[in-house]
Amino acid sequence: MAKPKIATDWMGACSGCHMSLLDMDERLVELLGKVELTSSPITDLKVPPESGVDVGVLEGAVNNTDNEHVAKRMRQRCKILVAIGDCAVFGGILGMRNFEPAYVALERAYEGADTTVDGKVPDSPEIMRPVVNRAVNEVVKVDVHVPGCPPRADVLYYVLSELAEGRIPKLDETKLTYD
Ligand code: SF4
Repeated sequence: MAKPKIATDWMGACSGCHMSLLDMDERLVELLGKVELTSSPITDLKVPPESGVDVGVLEGAVNNTDNEHVAKRMRQRCKILVAIGDCAVFGGILGMRNFEPAYVALERAYEGADTTVDGKVPDSPEIMRPVVNRAVNEVVKVDVHVPGCPPRADVLYYVLSELAEGRIPKLDETKLTYD
C-alpha cells in the first residue's frame, strides 16, 4: 500500500515549529518509514505537488499576500490541513502589528532598527501593502490545530503518527500548550 503523503510549508513564522519537527530526532526516521514527505521548506522540494497530498502542515501566520497564496495552495492540494504553532493557530506574536498601521512596523523594520544605517522602506507593492495578520483558519479551513510556541516534538510526533495511520489526532490537555 502506498504511504500517505505529507507536505509542509511555512508563512509568517520564525521556523521554530519546523525546528521542533526536527527535534523528533530518530523518531523522524521511524515516521519517514510510514509516510512520504513530498515537500517542505527543509527539503530540496519546497512546493506541495499539484497531484496533492494526504496531509498538509502549515507553520506561521498569514500576514502578506504571499502567505495567503501559500495557505490557499496547501488547502487546495491536501485532504487534511494541520496548523502547527501559535502563529498558525492564533496569529501569534505577529498579531502585534494589528494594533498599529502597517507603516509603523515597516518603519521599525527598515528605518528604525538598531542595525540600520540610512535605511528606507523598500518600494515594493508586496511590502507596502497594508497588512492585517491572520491565523490560518481566518483564510482557509483548518482540520487540526496544534498550538504551542512551538508545539513540542513529542506532540508533533503523535499528531503525524496518528495521521499516518489514518486517524485524526485527539489533542487533550496533556498534549496542548499555550505559550
Ligand atoms: Fe516561531 Fe512560535 Fe510562531 Fe512557531 S509558533 S513559528 S516557534 S513564533
